[in-house]
Amino acid sequence: MNDAKIIAVTQPLIESHRDLADKPVYMTPNEFIAYTARVSNPSNQHNTLTSEKLLKYLIEHKHWSPFEMVSITMEINTTRDISHQIIRHRSFSFQEFSQRYADPTKDMQFVTREARLQDAKNRQNSIEVGDETISSSIGDINPSGLKFQWNSVQEEITNLAKDHYKDAISWGIAKEQARAILPEGLTTTRLYMSGTLRSWIHYIDVRAEEGTQKEHRQVALAARDEILRHFPSLNDYWYSAPQEIEQPSKKKHWLEYFWNTSIAD
Ligand SMILES: Cc1cc2nc3c(=O)[nH]c(=O)nc-3n(C[C@H](O)[C@H](O)[C@H](O)COP(=O)(O)OP(=O)(O)OC[C@H]3O[C@@H](n4cnc5c(N)ncnc54)[C@H](O)[C@@H]3O)c2cc1C
Repeated sequence: MNDAKIIAVTQPLIESHRDLADKPVYMTPNEFIAYTARVSNPSNQHNTLTSEKLLKYLIEHKHWSPFEMVSITMEINTTRDISHQIIRHRSFSFQEFSQRYADPTKDMQFVTREARLQDAKNRQNSIEVGDETISSSIGDINPSGLKFQWNSVQEEITNLAKDHYKDAISWGIAKEQARAILPEGLTTTRLYMSGTLRSWIHYIDVRAEEGTQKEHRQVALAARDEILRHFPSLNDYWYSAPQEIEQPSKKKHWLEYFWNTSIAD
């Protein structure tokens, strides 16, 4: 639950080299971004040796448009309340399981949610329940009792909603109306989310942050792991401490990264 998996990535059709059987080996999506970034330097466009370095340079200098040349589709499994947040990211395209046509009590699962506490100081945050007694306005609360109670309430609601949903369907009520009684935060969904690498980078930047709800953060972190498998040049961007950016005019002209030749200032 709350996972993300890459199911499609742009497949470049630009030849990188030939294998031993003289068959074409195409550029990786990573190499392809560097290829498109070097559009103004055709003689060096096929240089894949410095692709990684160029991508890091583009990221450091927020030169984002080459990252729009590659698209990624992920399959995401989550609950309906989280998918509602996800689809706000308007630069993406979506395809989601429709409760108008399919029966979620047959094709989707129901989950129970963690008992986290409201953070009184920060409304964008919730607090994990540990082993300590919790003091509240109604007196001391035992943490395992709270978890048990919260689980029981959710199970009761789910069972009631599922039973009434099935009844409604058996009476001939349309699925688009019957779904109204299903608890959206306990009902799972599946969606395909497709967008450019640039959009994925910024989606992850925002949704992997502390201010985002934990369940959505889990989706964003899973998406980040997936992207790093295909685009290792982003590793430094997400995992390294900020480094001083080399000033292009001091040692190397910035166009040298694109052209791989010396340029006089
Ligand atoms: C913590 C949190 C709380 C929120 N609360 C509310 C709420 O109360 N009510 C509500 O209606 N909505 C809320 N939202 C949703 C929010 O307002 C946006 O609708 C949502 O995050 C989608 O972002 P977006 O429109 O930038 O779309 P995206 O598709 O993520 O981005 C649009 C475009 O901007 C680009 N982009 C984004 N960031 C950068 C960057 N740093 N540099 C370069 N390009 C960039 C992307 O690449 C993309 O092309 C909340 C979001 C968060 C994260």
